[in-house]
Amino acid sequence: MKKEIATILAQLGNRTDQQTGAISAPIYLSTTYAHPKFGESTGFDYTRTKNPTRSILEEGLAQLEGGAGAVATSSGMSAIQLAFALFPVESHFLVSRDLYGGSYRFFQELETQGVAFFTYFTDLTDLKKQLSAEVSAVFLETPTNPLMNVTDISSVAKLTQANDALLLVDNTFLTPLRQQPLLDGADIVIHSGTKFLSGHNDLLAGVVVAKDPVLYQRLAFLANTTGPCLGSFDSWLFIRSLKTFPIRFEKQEENAKKLVDFLQGHPAVKEVLYPGVGAMISFRLQEKTQVPKLLQRLQLISFAESLGGVETLITYPTTQTHADIPQELRESYGLTADLLRLSVGIEGVNDLVADLDQALKEE
Ligand code: PLP
Repeated sequence: MKKEIATILAQLGNRTDQQTGAISAPIYLSTTYAHPKFGESTGFDYTRTKNPTRSILEEGLAQLEGGAGAVATSSGMSAIQLAFALFPVESHFLVSRDLYGGSYRFFQELETQGVAFFTYFTDLTDLKKQLSAEVSAVFLETPTNPLMNVTDISSVAKLTQANDALLLVDNTFLTPLRQQPLLDGADIVIHSGTKFLSGHNDLLAGVVVAKDPVLYQRLAFLANTTGPCLGSFDSWLFIRSLKTFPIRFEKQEENAKKLVDFLQGHPAVKEVLYPGVGAMISFRLQEKTQVPKLLQRLQLISFAESLGGVETLITYPTTQTHADIPQELRESYGLTADLLRLSVGIEGVNDLVADLDQALKEE
């Protein structure tokens, strides 16, 4: 019988240690594994290739996204790098115009070194215009970071399939609880596991999930070859965190919706960007000069980069997450200096509203 995500995650790792009956899966620190006989293996030889703790995590992540297999990596950026390593040098990619500044920095670096070429699309119509036989893959965020632009994954998947291109989706913002790109036709899903999936602002991790077993095997081969794999301690922490992910996310989203209502009615707020789902909100102040005062006044919400954790954070993309995108370019597509991004946590929502309210006061 197909189980619910909450059940799969709460039970992750349970019944994997038959000898002791451990409910919480052990952390296998051994980097190497003895062979029972010449030519035989327990299934584990060397930890870069496969580790028992990481395998439990990867199986859970693959189920979560409905993929053939997952690779857990040391950060979201190493997950993105691993996915792009699938393609030969000098490949062409079509990617979201608005996206995480670190992804943009990576793409620029590949381009500067002559390793790969990137063009950027703003919406589906623009993507259709730019998609050609030259393009090896489309990489998109939906909703985008931080402008919350939404792209319909199944429409893009139809186009990429017709063009023999792969579709890679960064699903960090909505998570498989709200969006399962592989089921909508994408080939690869990427996560910064640092964010909602682990959710406590204490773990740096990444995830790549492939729909197709052959593509997954290729990713596993590349991960073993280049070694971006997640360590055993961190794999265990990731498993432990995933057990509460559904209830955390639901509370974060519930809080976010109430904060959207509050911000939309506030005179100091010019515009609220929220896709109607998830726990990420961006908003514009009437004047960009109000930004430092707001950040200074907040007492509960922390001014810090990153997102997805149980603690509510506010980020200023202009000087933090997106500072590597040239100012003129950023502003040309709407990432302006009046924009702030909120990652909503699990605190009592009235306390979050009260904190924002006192910080937004005019005097
Ligand atoms: N993708 C998105 C949408 C992100 O927001 C981030 C980081 O903020 C990353 C990828 C990179 O992940 P990491 O910081 O775990 O390397």
